[in-house]
Amino acid sequence: MAPQFGTFDIAIAGGGPAGSVAAILLARAGYSVALATLPPCEPRYEGMSARVAAILQRHGLPLDGIGPAAQRHVSWGAFQGGQNSEHPADRKQFDTGLLHTAWAAGVTVFFKAVASVRPDAGEIRLSDGQNLTAGLLFEARGRRAPRQSTDLDRAELIGPDTISVAGFVPPQSGYMDTPRIEARPGGWIWSAPAGQDRLWLQAVGDAQSLGQTRGKAAVAALWNSVLGDTPLPRQPAIHAIAPQLTAPELDPRCPRLGDAAVALDPLSGHGMFWAVSSALMAVPIARALLDGQTALACDFYRNRVAETFWRQARVGRDFYREAGLQSPFWQPRAAWPDDAPAHDTDIRPHAATRVIVQNGHLARREVLITRDAPGGAAFAAGQEIVPLLRRLNGRPLPGPARFHTSVLPEAPPQAARAIHQWLLSQGFTEGVQIPWDTTNRETNPCNYDPAV
Ligand SMILES: Cc1cc2nc3c(=O)[nH]c(=O)nc-3n(C[C@H](O)[C@H](O)[C@H](O)COP(=O)(O)OP(=O)(O)OC[C@H]3O[C@@H](n4cnc5c(N)ncnc54)[C@H](O)[C@@H]3O)c2cc1C
Repeated sequence: MAPQFGTFDIAIAGGGPAGSVAAILLARAGYSVALATLPPCEPRYEGMSARVAAILQRHGLPLDGIGPAAQRHVSWGAFQGGQNSEHPADRKQFDTGLLHTAWAAGVTVFFKAVASVRPDAGEIRLSDGQNLTAGLLFEARGRRAPRQSTDLDRAELIGPDTISVAGFVPPQSGYMDTPRIEARPGGWIWSAPAGQDRLWLQAVGDAQSLGQTRGKAAVAALWNSVLGDTPLPRQPAIHAIAPQLTAPELDPRCPRLGDAAVALDPLSGHGMFWAVSSALMAVPIARALLDGQTALACDFYRNRVAETFWRQARVGRDFYREAGLQSPFWQPRAAWPDDAPAHDTDIRPHAATRVIVQNGHLARREVLITRDAPGGAAFAAGQEIVPLLRRLNGRPLPGPARFHTSVLPEAPPQAARAIHQWLLSQGFTEGVQIPWDTTNRETNPCNYDPAV
């Protein structure tokens, strides 16, 4: 039976991992949810980290098309060898499995093109002229979602123009055992065996280098500039993949998820993590917005989005630098977005107020910002950290036994020991005055201007 149009609590545009996972979790939380998307039809392989697979499993989400973890072979400048492992992911199967689970969870799925998302009217307009109306919309059309404002064309918010060309090629000797990533003078490649007799091969190159060349000739030129004589796949999948901060501020009528908020360089291998983890924000954000707690939702979104974008952009830059190549593809990518460190090693532990998720709801809490937790840590071993540290009243951090009796007598000894160990791991030292600053230096007014 065809799904019924009408009014829903929540309507989502786009059913990639971000939109589908959000739809499932929102339906499980009791909302009536509509999801409008084009079905996945092109073949596409990507690398999924073990962290993403673990999150999906923890939330009872399907792992269709996700292969067993395999060690990735890296050939990147001076580094040659095995590094990390990843799960080769058949995205067509994976996305289809999520959509099926969404439908089984009670989401009304419309396999239709979205013509426009209209937050002012609370509606998603489909290309056949019909509308989905809802109390809250989510935008999850990935990189095809419109950018929030033309201000975002600023060079530091959008990376060098980069194109990926990928597809199946016949087996290549040395490439059929494990995923591989390689830096080449014209760009980089990623490959994963797709069964015995096919290899998924992806070439990433510079759009600028194509000059006036367009169409099929441009695709072939880009492929050859990275891979030389390797024949072009018969049906190449072409994607523009410049990293970009698409929507730094939350529109309280239509929050964004996944690539529609921040699109990362595929080199980071962080895109699916961000898509899924941003979908985990959907339920607490929806609860806050539907309860009128707009400022909480804005602050939460802004922090998460900005932190993800800047951290991953700088991590990516350092990875490009590590290749040690000086050609026109590598130079701009080794310089973008700036020279600031990816991991700020000078962070002095201090308390700040941040919006966190607590029991499925957004809440403003004091968190401890440290070098290892620049986004802030609110809890360790189930205890709120900052109020705990206040109990020390400026005294030095005692050893584990005194810490238990003087700071956390109500907790079991193992819990007190776990927190003590966590503090040591964050740079605190026993017997030394705690070098932290409890002033709340950060305030985050919600300044989304719907007119922009
Ligand atoms: C070439 C390439 C390689 C990548 N490799 C990796 C990797 O190895 N590891 C990794 O973690 N990440 C990788 N990424 C990033 C990862 O794919 C994305 O971050 C992730 O897919 C984002 O999920 P999403 O749900 O936000 O968007 P998408 O997956 O893009 O989903 C958007 C959905 O919206 C639908 N849609 C769009 N427009 C419309 C419309 N008008 N009407 C109806 N539906 C619409 C689409 O059909 C799609 O289903 C790669 C990305 C690319 C492009």
